[in-house]
Amino acid sequence: MMEEYIAQAEQDLLHTYNRYPVVFERGEGVHLYDLDGKEYLDFVAGIAVFALGYGNEAYNNALKEQIDKLIHTSNYYYNVPAVEAAKRLKQVSGLDRVFFTNSGAEAMEGAIKAARKYAYLKDGATDHEIIAMEHSFHGRTMGALSVTGNKKYREAFEPMIGNVKFAKLNDFDSVMSLVNDKTCAIIMETVQGEGGIYPAEEDFLKAVRKLCDEKDILLILDEIQCGMGRTGTMFAWQRYGVKPDIMTTAKALGCGVPIGAFLMTEKVGQNSLAAGDHGTTYGGNPLACKAAWTVLDLYESQHILEHVQKSGAYLAKKLDSLVDKYDFVLERRGLGLLQGLVLDKPVNEILTKALEKGLVLINAGTNIIRFLPPLIITEQDIDEMLVILEACMNA
Ligand SMILES: *Cc1c(COP(=O)(O)O)cnc(C)c1O
Repeated sequence: MMEEYIAQAEQDLLHTYNRYPVVFERGEGVHLYDLDGKEYLDFVAGIAVFALGYGNEAYNNALKEQIDKLIHTSNYYYNVPAVEAAKRLKQVSGLDRVFFTNSGAEAMEGAIKAARKYAYLKDGATDHEIIAMEHSFHGRTMGALSVTGNKKYREAFEPMIGNVKFAKLNDFDSVMSLVNDKTCAIIMETVQGEGGIYPAEEDFLKAVRKLCDEKDILLILDEIQCGMGRTGTMFAWQRYGVKPDIMTTAKALGCGVPIGAFLMTEKVGQNSLAAGDHGTTYGGNPLACKAAWTVLDLYESQHILEHVQKSGAYLAKKLDSLVDKYDFVLERRGLGLLQGLVLDKPVNEILTKALEKGLVLINAGTNIIRFLPPLIITEQDIDEMLVILEACMNA
């Protein structure tokens, strides 16, 4: 039955992904099940999305209840879930204003527009520049793509939005050499995800923050993958004590229901996007916001951050032991439950074998195995994953 669906999908869906040959049907906790009923241990979580695991009863019930009440109105009216979700997002981020979107890329678009408008209101100019980072990933829409530091993703779609320059993450001189009076924003992921699991270093972030303060440049931190508790703090920048002017979030924010957001300080909120400047039909709708509202409550009641601190340290320790044990395992990088294992060879074959043995893993670049389990993962699950992974690495 799986083969038929796969063949049909390859006829009907635009081939923009090389998919693994599996059709998942349902999930429970940290496990997925395919159409044949085979069980898989999930270390991808829908790419850092399903933080609370599958089939969380409180989450499912909250959504079912909201479906029966109201799914959509429009941003011309107020709705309770949007108010409650925004209030909680402000509490956990310390930022002041929230705009809900449907995706991470859409959040990046909004962040870029807010930064350009902020600069425009200061000097009326329309040639402001943005500094982004090499090897970054911010999404596939034109604005988000324009600040994505991977030529392979951009080239065929040129021209980009323009006036974007790329510096090197953790190389402050490379940032300094690009800054000028036209610079309106510096954009980076606090931990680069797709680009290979590179955390921004504390000194670098602090230096960039200081530079931004001195020159009234907006610091935009993309927390779409590394945020929502994945590194052990709600947002990765919180471990450094460096606050962005604008932050983007998505992925785990709705734990599967499509929702993202960009948030900003009151100062930016008062001096950038105003009525009529920006909008979205679905963004902030009651169903999606009920998901985010419930997710944020469940993070608190289920002590997700404390759990990630413990299980993340355990995962890191175990992966470090693989670096010690195998010559072809070069390095472990990452924070919390966002980890990468760097091999001296392509990892694709290992990932395919792992899937056959019931373990879901993905890569980040050719040579890096990426670990993004649901945040409720236990030490026992991690041990189980390692047994399968080692068997695949040795095969
Ligand atoms: C996934 C991702 C995005 C894009 O989010 P979408 O919801 O896929 O548009 C942007 N930035 C980072 C860091 C991401 O990991």
